[in-house]
Amino acid sequence: ADPDSAVVAAPAGDHLAHNYHPLDVLVARGEGAVLTDADGRSYLDFLAAYSAANFGHGHPDLVAAAQAQLQRVTLTSRAFLHDQLSPFAEELCALIGKEMMLPMNTGAEAVESGIKVARKWGYEVKGVRDGRAKIIVAAGNFHGRTTTIISFSDDPVAHDHYGPYTPGFVTVPYGDVAALEAAIDDDTVAVLLEPIQGEAGVLIPPAGYLAGVRRVTAERNVLFIADEIQSGLGRTGATLACQHEGVEADVYLLGKALGGGIVPVSAVLANRDILGVLKPGQHGSTFGGNPLACAVGRAVVRLLATGEYQQRAIDLGAQMDRRLQGMIGHGVVGYRSRGLWAGVDIDPTLASGREVCERLAERRVLAKDTHGSTIRLAPPIVITETQLDRGLDQLEAVVAEL
Ligand code: PLP
Repeated sequence: ADPDSAVVAAPAGDHLAHNYHPLDVLVARGEGAVLTDADGRSYLDFLAAYSAANFGHGHPDLVAAAQAQLQRVTLTSRAFLHDQLSPFAEELCALIGKEMMLPMNTGAEAVESGIKVARKWGYEVKGVRDGRAKIIVAAGNFHGRTTTIISFSDDPVAHDHYGPYTPGFVTVPYGDVAALEAAIDDDTVAVLLEPIQGEAGVLIPPAGYLAGVRRVTAERNVLFIADEIQSGLGRTGATLACQHEGVEADVYLLGKALGGGIVPVSAVLANRDILGVLKPGQHGSTFGGNPLACAVGRAVVRLLATGEYQQRAIDLGAQMDRRLQGMIGHGVVGYRSRGLWAGVDIDPTLASGREVCERLAERRVLAKDTHGSTIRLAPPIVITETQLDRGLDQLEAVVAEL
């Protein structure tokens, strides 16, 4: 047993809000793609903290960057300058290909910030009448949990009983360019989309969809905001999922892996004509862009700048895809994958996604269901070929037994 874990070995009990239903595993340590519980049992991590741990647990470069910054300074607030913020902004902008970035902390904050910037741009640049800005979103979206964001969620579990809701959003079917185009009017300031819908079950839109969205938004002077919080930063085999269609959005929302699995770091990226609408005092965050976050974010950018992780996600993704193909008809009714990311549909007459994940956990593989009988596979990109095969062997065995 791990002596350090003794203090947390008690179950969550009555003192914790029940807003999650975790698998019955008590993690005490993590290294690479392996999580170890309080009793020393090892598990393969096939979730990577919803893609926040794309570079694995305890990546030496990221830990070193965090440790070095811990010894220097960790928090100044934005009331003062510090020596990590401008370099982080410059390096992240170079990686993503935008002129400016706005640092925040969580994904939901990046989405909120993107919405605020788009509205302000609508009023001050596009000339929409104050208070009328409209943003188009997709059915099945997941962009986070704030009151405004859940206002345009069509998932009753995320949405219900949190009203009154924020107006100004219009929902269209995901993957349908004509429906999106028809919803645009003079008050439309932005279209907000996930290039691949993660929480919905790794839904990949039809080929040409993102390019179609790009075309109609450009024609109608509407901002294309790509929420790459889950799809971005290596997961799909590219720095940004939009790049698979050769599409450049106007605004990118990044989060999760930007913090290297160490600290929450998120950002909004756009060119000066858009992000330049924010002036001192008009938006902010005590922790956004703090020295520790920036130091870790810079180390993440350095990892991604090599292209090594993107390539690895492609190679490992091909291996995963081959294995999933072989499971079709053996408990699996379908799957979608892009890079090292897959949504696997288990035959719903055989088991729920939850049951499959519980059985996987008994076999020392940790994955998470999304909706119904779909499970999401997103191991850290540092997973080895052997570990990936071992995890997929267990999935194959679980679904074959159903
Ligand atoms: N946007 C997308 C596409 C996400 O998948 C998520 C989280 O799952 C979020 C936003 C919200 O991020 P956070 O939980 O850090 O607020």
